[in-house]
Amino acid sequence: MINNKILIDNHSKVWKSLTIDRQRLDKYLAYNASRAGATILVGSEATDGDMIDGKINKLFVKTDKKILIIEPKVIVAADGTFSTIAKLQNRPKLNKLDIGMTVSYEMTNVNLKYTDRIQMFFDDICRFGYGYIIPKSKDSANVGIGMIGVEKHPWKHLQYLLDTHPIVNPQIKYSGVIEIKKGETPILGQKLKLVKGNVLYVGDAAAQNLSHVGEGAIPSHICGRIAGQVVAEHINKDMSLNEYSVRISETIGMLFNECEQIRDLVFNIWTSDLHLEFKNLLSGLLISEVIPPHEKELLYSLEGLPPKEIINVVSKYLIKTKRNKLISVKII
Ligand SMILES: Cc1cc2nc3c(=O)[nH]c(=O)nc-3n(C[C@H](O)[C@H](O)[C@H](O)COP(=O)(O)OP(=O)(O)OC[C@H]3O[C@@H](n4cnc5c(N)ncnc54)[C@H](O)[C@@H]3O)c2cc1C
Repeated sequence: MINNKILIDNHSKVWKSLTIDRQRLDKYLAYNASRAGATILVGSEATDGDMIDGKINKLFVKTDKKILIIEPKVIVAADGTFSTIAKLQNRPKLNKLDIGMTVSYEMTNVNLKYTDRIQMFFDDICRFGYGYIIPKSKDSANVGIGMIGVEKHPWKHLQYLLDTHPIVNPQIKYSGVIEIKKGETPILGQKLKLVKGNVLYVGDAAAQNLSHVGEGAIPSHICGRIAGQVVAEHINKDMSLNEYSVRISETIGMLFNECEQIRDLVFNIWTSDLHLEFKNLLSGLLISEVIPPHEKELLYSLEGLPPKEIINVVSKYLIKTKRNKLISVKII
């Protein structure tokens, strides 16, 4: 929903979604890893390490009982946005504009307008990001907001969204919060080194997400699988670890590139001095993948047009690109 006026309904395949319970999924993966022979150190933390010639040759891991010293052949650093392993390897800190801060509530007893689709909001309340409602069942949902370039988690914005947003508020008015979630997602695109010494970076530690929306759940799994395969071939067949970067760029890397182009243009728009309502319009059309970033002329031609005319132009573009059966735009 853009500026609380323009509704985009996107049924493209790539927007098909599945809502998962992260804790249960992680446990399921841990079961499988353990059955496959992995040793899992629950609740442990890599705290420090020694480096020789760019390789981490000793890793200090704090467990509930003692500090373990591990001499790793290879490390797969999947330790999140503020990766300890990256700090050990002296990777520069991420810029605050490269980090999306997200806060959300899992809410019950919601009165959802749509139980079978995600709602995203691009408007004055959700500027520099977007608000969202992700249904978890017919009467429960994650309701949140993600923003870039903010100093702290946008709890105030979320409260404002819940209390005052004309479309969100009626849906959550009588609901209760059953879980609070917050975090940071790196959304800088493919700018971080994936292989350094004997370390492969995966997931948020490598900013492997769809950077225009900050979605990293599926990309992290895909990249983690590729990293695992490369490590196995490195150990068993002496394959170079750099093969990891190659395989990523030949596969999901292409999707990352497309997302990065959207992200870069949205970022330019958000940091420009365009009128706020127009910024919301452009970022909404770009992020929801109605108009691609190479159609800049078309995008900027929408400035100052009344909503009805915007719908006309965008609808014509959808027909021209043969996507009018999958995506619709209308005024509400
Ligand atoms: C509120 C919120 C909502 C989101 N919603 C979505 C969504 O709807 N869809 C989507 O696709 N993405 C979403 N994302 C992004 C998604 O969660 C991440 O991209 C994804 O979780 C990345 O997975 P990861 O395993 O790389 O990192 P993480 O999930 O951050 O996992 C890193 C793990 O490393 C552990 N760790 C960290 N440091 C150490 C250390 N020193 N030693 C040992 N272990 C360590 C942490 O405890 C953690 O378990 C959301 C993010 C947030 C914050």
